[in-house]
Amino acid sequence: MNLCRIEDIKLLLKRHGFRFSKSLGQNFLIEDWVPARTAEESGANADSVVLEIGPGIGPLTQELAKRAKCVLAVELDRSLLPVLEETMTEFNNVEIISADVMKLDLKQICRERAENTDYIVCANLPYNITTPVIVKLMESNCFSSITVMIQKEVAARICAKAGTSDYGAFSVFCQYYADCEILYDVPPEAFYPAPRVMSSVVRMVTRDTPPVSVENPELFFRVVRAAFAQRRKTLLNALHANFGSEYSKEELGDILESCSLSKSIRGERLEIESFAQLAKKLQK
Ligand code: SAM
Repeated sequence: MNLCRIEDIKLLLKRHGFRFSKSLGQNFLIEDWVPARTAEESGANADSVVLEIGPGIGPLTQELAKRAKCVLAVELDRSLLPVLEETMTEFNNVEIISADVMKLDLKQICRERAENTDYIVCANLPYNITTPVIVKLMESNCFSSITVMIQKEVAARICAKAGTSDYGAFSVFCQYYADCEILYDVPPEAFYPAPRVMSSVVRMVTRDTPPVSVENPELFFRVVRAAFAQRRKTLLNALHANFGSEYSKEELGDILESCSLSKSIRGERLEIESFAQLAKKLQK
């Protein structure tokens, strides 16, 4: 059975009485070059344990299983479990975890299995949890790389450079944790049912150390969020809206000047280094 052939998929799903759930972001791949290339680009090899989120009927799972030591595939939709049991029969290195990835303790899952193993993530993510799941994966600090298919516009935000319209708090967040790169686009016709938007595959190779030295990450990300919370405002006004109870506007203006930043600059122009410098100066 070819898991990317529309006729095979329809028969398989019919046999299992499966109904698509829009709220679970169920758009299944129907172009076989996509799972093959995505698995290849993830770098999965005989030493890696791959976490896949949302295997669906398993086209990417199969490609990963051919390359990796082991695949841990987390699927929320219980009605897909019997389907996966059928499509994974020839692979003995695939473990299906029936759960909501957002509720899983990822550190525990990785600890339970094997230490000193290279854990990576590869997935065609459900669009409704794209941002929170990426945040969770990054903050878990468990994975050396995260290769995911997501909406093209989110991929553009993740990889955006300072000063562009896509650049925002999420760009700084992802680039703080990882070296991020868009690999290729995937058109709506590559999915069944077809989504309304283009998708992109993005690879985030997590960093051993952040690109800037940050003493207090919580404060650093508070500054970043404050700077982008009101994009039309100047950085000074945006910071004042968030830090107003701790600093007067004049003090904030002096802090900007001490970082060689103009009082009229907007937050979106700041490189990650400037955010780190600002956070350092705002530390009481
Ligand atoms: N990997 C398959 C493919 O490429 O054809 C399916 C990808 S489909 C875009 C997303 C999958 O994620 C669906 O199988 C859906 O049931 C599953 N899913 C949705 N929310 C989830 C969650 N919170 N935890 C785990 N799986 C989830």
